[in-house]
Amino acid sequence: MLFADVSVLDENFDVVPHQWVGVCDGRVAYVGAADPRVSGSYAADPRGATASAASQGVGTQAADPHDASAYFGEVIEGAGRLLMPALYNCHAHSPMVLLRGYAENLPLQRWLNEKCFPFEAKMTADDCYWGTLLACAEMARFGVVSFSDMYYNAERSAQAVMESGMKASLGSAPVLLGDTPFAERVEYAQTEEMIRQWHGAGDGRIHVDCALHSEYLTTEPVVRDVTAFAKERGLRLHIHLSETAKEVAECRERHGGLSPVAYFESTGLFEEPVTAAHCVWLDEADMDILAYRGVFVANNPASNMKLGSGFAPIPRLLEKGAKVCLGSDGMASNNNHNLFHDMYLQAMIYKGATLDPTAVTPQQALQAATRTGALSQGREDCGLVKEGMRADLCLLDVAGPSWCPATDMTYNLVYAGSGSDVVMTLCDGQVVYRDGAFPTIDLERAKAECAARTQRILGEL
Ligand SMILES: [Zn+2]
Repeated sequence: MLFADVSVLDENFDVVPHQWVGVCDGRVAYVGAADPRVSGSYAADPRGATASAASQGVGTQAADPHDASAYFGEVIEGAGRLLMPALYNCHAHSPMVLLRGYAENLPLQRWLNEKCFPFEAKMTADDCYWGTLLACAEMARFGVVSFSDMYYNAERSAQAVMESGMKASLGSAPVLLGDTPFAERVEYAQTEEMIRQWHGAGDGRIHVDCALHSEYLTTEPVVRDVTAFAKERGLRLHIHLSETAKEVAECRERHGGLSPVAYFESTGLFEEPVTAAHCVWLDEADMDILAYRGVFVANNPASNMKLGSGFAPIPRLLEKGAKVCLGSDGMASNNNHNLFHDMYLQAMIYKGATLDPTAVTPQQALQAATRTGALSQGREDCGLVKEGMRADLCLLDVAGPSWCPATDMTYNLVYAGSGSDVVMTLCDGQVVYRDGAFPTIDLERAKAECAARTQRILGEL
């Protein structure tokens, strides 16, 4: 595929007009201001894209190596279009799409105990499969290609992700209370099986994570065991961290005054790669630890506002050099997987909350939604429109009224654009959404299954 004369969000998160971007064998093979089909411009590229594409056996072997059109198939005209890295959702509970619109306008503890937990107790493995498939369709529609998920029946989510052509880092998040060593629990065997079947599947599209739900649903021996397990297997960890003031106060009571961040630091958890969701209630020392340890902070601005949890101190975390990415959280507290919404909120709410209109730049919001998100999932070769990177891309229609005038398209992208401007989403070069169609997912079937399954569960409650 060749995107011709298109505006591109570059690696500095600025929009550059009039670029040509070629995709070959699932990767970005050419980015330049010259049309690679013009004789000589592609082969003469100093970065050697032709040589590497040819050596990988890409394209038509018999073709003239100076004829770039032989390597790139379909040409997508870029006028009125903007090409950017796809988005990475760093905190989700994808099967929870079945709970969309069901648990509303309640304080967090009642929302959880009276609504979410009873509903989830009725969910089957098949329910999780269909919920994940619908979540994949929704994310693809809004330019998201990959998500970090924490839920039960992760093997069924893996199946749905595999079929959809998308990517995910999947961790089961069971309640792990008590002192039983992790190796003696059923969850240990389940994680082993999950790794055996799915870790690295689909040319690395699927990763298995170790999930620790939170400080309050685990114990210190379990945290130490799971951390050691993750280190041994080379897995990343995914946790909920300091989401509410209540969680922090109760942790301090249980652990001799330690905040959840200080407590997890004392267990050695942060010596491994960790994505920590929420991080709303942090003090200065907590933020220093997260920045120093390189913990990926998955901000969930919509969810945290909807549940009345507060605002994660993102401007201060960025000042300290912490790694900030974005998550949608579950659909009972957002209620959509349109990560453009969360990106907009991240760029906007802190200006109001801190009375500082310079807090969180559009570039920082874009970086969180793309490159930093990819890195939080251990996807080093994803999240930038750059030669050699995997072709995780989304194309936006920027011909609509919200995009005019194009004085600065980076500002338009964050403050005026919308997820519904996405017209095409590619994951490893494969089209997963295009002009209203989902080539890898039977959307009508997924919708019908999810609607019927939610009705069934509501009838059982
Ligand atoms: Zn969550």
